[in-house]
Amino acid sequence: MTITDTLAKSRGDLENKLRNLLAKPVFLIELDAFALPCGCKGVTINARGIQYDDIEIFEEHVNKYLKETSEDLEVEPSFLFARLVPGTAEVASLNSRILCNRCYMDFARGTGKMPRPDIYILNFTRRE
Ligand SMILES: [Zn+2]
Repeated sequence: MTITDTLAKSRGDLENKLRNLLAKPVFLIELDAFALPCGCKGVTINARGIQYDDIEIFEEHVNKYLKETSEDLEVEPSFLFARLVPGTAEVASLNSRILCNRCYMDFARGTGKMPRPDIYILNFTRRE
């Protein structure tokens, strides 16, 4: 499969899983692979129809599904998080990011599930 076919398949698969899990219309409006100048890389999945409560209540499942999607895309699922629309309970995106060393240190220093008001951490694997 080409990279775009793989992205398309992963988007559809995850959307179906989340619709079944949450029993409501969830739209994954765009799935992007990215690489940043700092060295971070990964995938961002922009979403509509997911609320903060959905993530909190079904965290275990959402975490599992996002991990599977990440693995399908060959992105090590070491840092998984949801980004909220600032000041709302709306989930803007689900993300899997392989952190560069500097960003890793920034997040490693943070504490709790929400080191920033717009970030809800699903998984953060600490490095030795
Ligand atoms: Zn970085």
